[in-house]
Amino acid sequence: MGKAGLIPVNSEQFRQLLIARRQELLDLSQLATDSRKPVELDQQSIGRLSRQDALQQQAMAKAQENLRRRDLARIDRALGRIEDESYGLCLECEEDIAEKRLLVDPATELCLVCKT
Ligand SMILES: [Zn+2]
Repeated sequence: MGKAGLIPVNSEQFRQLLIARRQELLDLSQLATDSRKPVELDQQSIGRLSRQDALQQQAMAKAQENLRRRDLARIDRALGRIEDESYGLCLECEEDIAEKRLLVDPATELCLVCKT
């Protein structure tokens, strides 16, 4: 742990940020799911080239979905750290993570030193 008894950052502010990002990701996932349906319906009537395009788009959509799930998992872990009051501490060296860094990515798990 860092300095005993000190909460390094305003964790409520970051909790709000994390929850907002989480909702954003869930919305994007929902949008992606909705927009996939018409592509599948069209597949029988479209040519070979556009079918390839459609498959490529599907692969891209799947990769993006995987990224979103990975981000969601990071966000959930960060929310867990807020719960157990270890939020804002580097998972590697347990020093405080710079607040600027947390503002850029509230789910950051490592300080700049450990990351590089
Ligand atoms: Zn560190």
